[in-house]
Amino acid sequence: MTTSQAQANDNKTTAHQKADFDAIVIGAGFAGMGLLHSLREAGLSVQVFDKASDIGGTWTWNRYPGARTDSESYYYCFTFSKEILQEWSWSERYPSWEETLDYMHFVADKCNLWPNIQLNTTFVSADYQADRGLWLVRTEAGEEYTCKYFISGMGMISEPVIPETEGMDSFKGPLFHSARWPEGTDYAGKRVGIIGAGATTVQLLPVLAETAAQVTVFHRTPNFILPAMQKPMTPEWEKEIKDNYDEIIAKCRNHVFGMAFDSPVNRTVADTPPEEVEAIFEEHWNGSFRWVFETFDDLLSNPEANRLASAFIVKKMKERIEDPEIAELLTPAPGEYPLFAKRPPLDHGYLEAYSRDNVKLVDIRDREPIVAIDETGVRTTENHYDFDIIILATGFRAYTGGLEAFPIRGQSGQSLREKWQTTSKSIMGVCVADFPNMFIVTGPQAPFANLPTSIEQNTQWITHCIKKMESEGFDVCTPKQDAEDAWTAHTAEIHEQTLMAEGDKVNSWMMGANIKHHKPRVLIYFGGANVYYDKMDESVEADFPELQFDKLA
Ligand code: NAP
Repeated sequence: MTTSQAQANDNKTTAHQKADFDAIVIGAGFAGMGLLHSLREAGLSVQVFDKASDIGGTWTWNRYPGARTDSESYYYCFTFSKEILQEWSWSERYPSWEETLDYMHFVADKCNLWPNIQLNTTFVSADYQADRGLWLVRTEAGEEYTCKYFISGMGMISEPVIPETEGMDSFKGPLFHSARWPEGTDYAGKRVGIIGAGATTVQLLPVLAETAAQVTVFHRTPNFILPAMQKPMTPEWEKEIKDNYDEIIAKCRNHVFGMAFDSPVNRTVADTPPEEVEAIFEEHWNGSFRWVFETFDDLLSNPEANRLASAFIVKKMKERIEDPEIAELLTPAPGEYPLFAKRPPLDHGYLEAYSRDNVKLVDIRDREPIVAIDETGVRTTENHYDFDIIILATGFRAYTGGLEAFPIRGQSGQSLREKWQTTSKSIMGVCVADFPNMFIVTGPQAPFANLPTSIEQNTQWITHCIKKMESEGFDVCTPKQDAEDAWTAHTAEIHEQTLMAEGDKVNSWMMGANIKHHKPRVLIYFGGANVYYDKMDESVEADFPELQFDKLA
């Protein structure tokens, strides 16, 4: 604890408030950095902890070759400082992880965040102590810290899923998850196996294939893959962006997925003559998720519109894949599942990579499932594949993974993991009943959206709530059970009406259906990020009706 923080805490009036920090934030990515800035501005002592050796969250863990944002750079960023928005220059439409990390360092320097960030620190438990109204956290190194507010900024996609394949420990070469890429891994001239073919592999494969001797992708479910259409940031484009940042921020705030898109377009497939639909699809085929939102407003809600969009994407994908057999494997069959029941990846040369002599696709769903990993490679029912390196690009335990990775115990002593055995309930993804004075940024049942937008909206709500607590002298805010039940029911009702509800058929992480021994569930609020942000604002205006505020005796 710094001297100034200690002094700040000594000034607290009641004994139970004598904590090491007003707020502890776990995770030093966008959420942790944003919270640190916002809560410090509000006068709190804040300490951010992260088990990584650098800030950056997702962008420090996912250092695999080719990793880059799928949102366009100029709105995948903090918007709280106009100065930073003007000073920072992006080099590309979708920045690499290196550039994104440079940006985060720039923000940390600019806002002097470093003194309140402690890296290389793994929490092993967090317990709410009702008698003191404090949280007690313990670290792997045996340190203990107390705080009044315990906040998760661990992100919605942070905890890797490791398959239970037999013999994994026996492989002699490096074998690792894509989100734990060992620094300096030399894959040039090597035989590389990649298990999994989601958004990560779509980014990774084309880069690996440039120098690896051989890359083999073990593939199960095909994806609807949209082209990224990368392009450099030109001075003219940058000027246009920087001259219009208020509008861009407003677009994100008011968009169903928190993106700076020009939608809704007030046009639906249902109301458009069939011959015009294809022409509009074609005209907007300019890269990014824009295509889904700037063509028609009913692609994700009307099954027929979704079917037409899906068929268009598959047609476009097939145009770029040389081998018809590979094209069949890589593209979803008609009616297999709706577009967006699985999160579509953005492509920077993935489909073309399969035309290379050194790239091989193995269908482990229908033709030759993996049987085991052994000393030298991967054994399927039909073949043995020899590798020097094996990469598990097998995804994440989304939304709940970080929060369930170590015991976080609330008022009753029950952990989040125990509470979330069958449903991952929350209040707007930011609070959980039985967990007083705890907040989550983009927790379960929050929307799936451009993350910096949602993170900033959540940060504002949390900061408002804490400011209320402090200014009105409250010690404890308790999320109400009935508010949690109501949000969970509302989220489930909306989910049922969307085509994303079919995600459990295709192991979608958006429903936790990618996790073995785990019941698929409603993890995402699909009522529109903009509607959700409105609800958060209404909650602030109504003085947080979801929470009960108390003073300790
Ligand atoms: P993912 O989309 O969940 O894909 C995991 C892949 O591994 C799937 O192909 C899955 O097959 C396969 N798999 C899982 N377990 C397996 C097993 N036991 N045996 C064989 N195959 C297995 O994971 P991801 O590619 O890491 O992407 C996850 C999410 O992270 C993305 O959707 C995205 O939101 C985020 N992400 C973002 C970016 C970005 O924005 N730039 C980049 C990468 C990732 P099935 O489909 O058959 O289950």
